[in-house]
Amino acid sequence: MATLGPLGRTAAIAALAVSGAVAAFATIAPSSMDEQALATTSSVETIPIPEEALLPSPASYIREERFQRGDTLPAFLGRLGIDDENVGRLARVRALQALRPGYQVTAEVGAEGQPLSLSFLSTRDTLVQIVPEGTGFGVTEERAPLYTHIAMKSSVIRSSLFAASDAAGIPDSVAIQLADVFGGDIDFHRDLRKGDQFMVVYEVHDLAGRPVRAGRVLAAEFVNQGKTYRAVHFGSGYYAPDGKNLRKAFLRSPLEFSRVSSGFGMRKHPIAREWRAHKGIDYAAPIGTRVRAVGDAVVDYAGPRGGYGNVVILRHHGGYSTVYAHLSRIAVKRGARVGQNDTIGFVGMTGWATGPHLHYEFRVGGEARNPFSIAMPAALPVPPQDLPAFRAYAEPLVARLELLANSNLALLE
Ligand SMILES: [Zn+2]
Repeated sequence: MATLGPLGRTAAIAALAVSGAVAAFATIAPSSMDEQALATTSSVETIPIPEEALLPSPASYIREERFQRGDTLPAFLGRLGIDDENVGRLARVRALQALRPGYQVTAEVGAEGQPLSLSFLSTRDTLVQIVPEGTGFGVTEERAPLYTHIAMKSSVIRSSLFAASDAAGIPDSVAIQLADVFGGDIDFHRDLRKGDQFMVVYEVHDLAGRPVRAGRVLAAEFVNQGKTYRAVHFGSGYYAPDGKNLRKAFLRSPLEFSRVSSGFGMRKHPIAREWRAHKGIDYAAPIGTRVRAVGDAVVDYAGPRGGYGNVVILRHHGGYSTVYAHLSRIAVKRGARVGQNDTIGFVGMTGWATGPHLHYEFRVGGEARNPFSIAMPAALPVPPQDLPAFRAYAEPLVARLELLANSNLALLE
C-alpha cells in the first residue's frame, strides 16, 4: 500500500477487509502442508493486512515504505509522511538506526504528520514497534511466530523472466529459485522465448497476517520452447514427477541468473550457427557479473592466456572440461577444487574482446563441443524405497499445477 489520501481510504479499507478474510483462511501452521491448505489458497493474490490496520483511528493513515540502498533515515521517515519535527526526534531512536536496505516499515501517521506507530520486522523474525511515549518514543521488541501459506502463481514470458514474475507479483527470490531449479535443463540467459510460460507453487511466510518473505518453491512447471518441465521439491532437492533428479552434472549456463544479467538474454540468432563460428558461446553481460562453475571440477588453469585474456579452465569427471574467457577477475587458483555453482571469476573484456562478455567453451576429451547437443547426466533419482512417499506428496502438487495450467490456457484462448 502506497500513499492513501483521505478520499481513497474508504475504498481501500473495504478492499483490505476482504483480503484480510482471505488471508485468515490462507494461513496455516508452519511447515504443515496438505491438500486442504492448497485447496484454500489456490487464489491467493492479495496482500493480507493485520487487523488493526483495518480500523485506523480517524484522521490517520497507514503507509508502508521499503528502506532503500543509499537511503538516509530522515529522508526515509519523510517518505512515510512524518513531519519534520518528528523526523528529527525519530532519527535519534536507536531501533530505527538499525534499519537496513530491504526492511519494510509500516507507519500509522496522523493527519498532521505525527507518527502514531512504526513497526518493522528485524532479523530473526522480531517485530519492532515504536510508539510515542511521554515526550519521546517507546520501543518494544517481540518475537513473532511466522506462519506459512502457499501461493500459486503463473505468468507468460514476454521479454524476460523478471518482467514476467513482476507482472504476476512473484518475488525475485522465487524467480531466482525457478532459474536454479530448472538450471540443468534450461539456460535462462539464452533459451527463453516469448510465449514460454510457467506456474509456481511456493511458500509465503506471514507475520501477524502480513507476508514478510517468500520461502521455498514447492513445485513448478516451466514450458520452454514447447517442452514442459516439472519440478517437485522433495528432501533436499527437486525431482520430476516420475522421481528423476532435476539436478544435472552440468548447469546449462555459466552465468548466474540475476536481474542484471537477465536483461541480456533472448537473443535471436540460433546458437548452433554462432557456436560453429568459434567453438564457443558468448554471453553478453555487464562487467563484474558472477561467473560460476557449471559442474564440480578441479581448476586446470587460471590466468592470462593470449586472446582469451584472463581465463579459467575447469577439468570435470568423465573427460569433460569447460573454459571461461575474457574475465575481469579470477576467483580461483590452479589445482583448487570447485563445486557446481561456485564463483570462479567475473565477466570482463580482457584479451580479444570488443565488449564485455563471457566466452564459454565446453570440451569433451579436449575437443570443443556444443554443450546444447549433449545429453547431460543427472544426479541420483528418488531412492526406490522413498518413491511411494514421494508420489503421495507430489501428486496433489502436480494436480494443482495442471489445474492452473488448464485455467491459464482457457484464459489465453
Ligand atoms: Zn566467444
